[in-house]
Amino acid sequence: MAKIISGKEVSAQVRADVRAECETLKQQGITPGLAVIIVGDDPASRVYVNNKKKACADVGFLSEEYTLPAQTTQEELLDLIEKLNNKKEINGILCQLPLPKHLDEKAVINAISPLKDVDAFHPSNVGRIMIGDYHFLPCTPAGVMELIHSADIDVNGKNCVVIGRSNIVGKPMAMLLLHENGTVTICHSRTKNLKEICRSADILVAAVGKPKFVKADMVKEGAVVIDVGMDRDENGKLCGDVDFNEVEPLASYITPVPGGVGPMTIAMLMKNTLMAAKIQNGVLNNA
Ligand code: NAP
Repeated sequence: MAKIISGKEVSAQVRADVRAECETLKQQGITPGLAVIIVGDDPASRVYVNNKKKACADVGFLSEEYTLPAQTTQEELLDLIEKLNNKKEINGILCQLPLPKHLDEKAVINAISPLKDVDAFHPSNVGRIMIGDYHFLPCTPAGVMELIHSADIDVNGKNCVVIGRSNIVGKPMAMLLLHENGTVTICHSRTKNLKEICRSADILVAAVGKPKFVKADMVKEGAVVIDVGMDRDENGKLCGDVDFNEVEPLASYITPVPGGVGPMTIAMLMKNTLMAAKIQNGVLNNA
């Protein structure tokens, strides 16, 4: 039977640490501030934005929401970002994705100052992650590493398999495992012998976006299994990319869905915003 790595518990600890540090910064006259931009009325985006605002209030940050109509032009959106890049009270900026189709996501990501890019999507931050010299990590892979550390799992020398190669999860995930000396394989929809490769994993990270995709015959006995997926099963119930009931008896550690990686993402966003506030106020060196 696997030990469950609880994202609820670990994220609560990360948030408590951020809250304590925020309190110390406030005594120096610094209040970390996060601006969240939402364009249009996508219901899922609305839920995410509300959760981010709640998390800011919970740790003591200032948060500002900018709700723009779906027909906002590229120029209007870029103007707002420019204004926020120059606004002293704001240390982190994020633009909730996906954007309406007529807007150019790449241009929007590029417009956010790398120092305020708390999602770590800007090419300059992505490059820094590649060379292992970074301030911000993308929140979901960073959250996974925090979960791995919380369970005292040593990545050094382990076979790590990441299923998924997206820019926001799979690729940076692989890079973070590599930085900790894992031997990393990235799988995707064109991968041959997926089962065999997965079965070689000491640490298996699933970021596929397909409900219960990882079955028992893809998992080595004693493997650590991290489930990034946030999917819906046949009954519309939230589930992960891993078939938990099949895989849990085999794994040594496993993250549940819900209550695993999910709560870590917002906790890491808070950590990034705190870091941004420290750098912009000269509390931390921006080397
Ligand atoms: P994505 O951009 O759709 O990427 C999915 C990846 O899975 C792609 O690289 C794709 O390969 C690969 N894939 C698809 N079918 C496959 C197959 N049959 N065999 C092997 N690989 C396959 O998704 P994402 O944004 O990375 O998200 C992945 C999952 O994580 C989703 O469930 C999402 O909801 C969840 N997520 C959770 C959080 C959180 O906070 N917990 C945050 C972000 C994402 P190709 O590249 O070849 O198409």
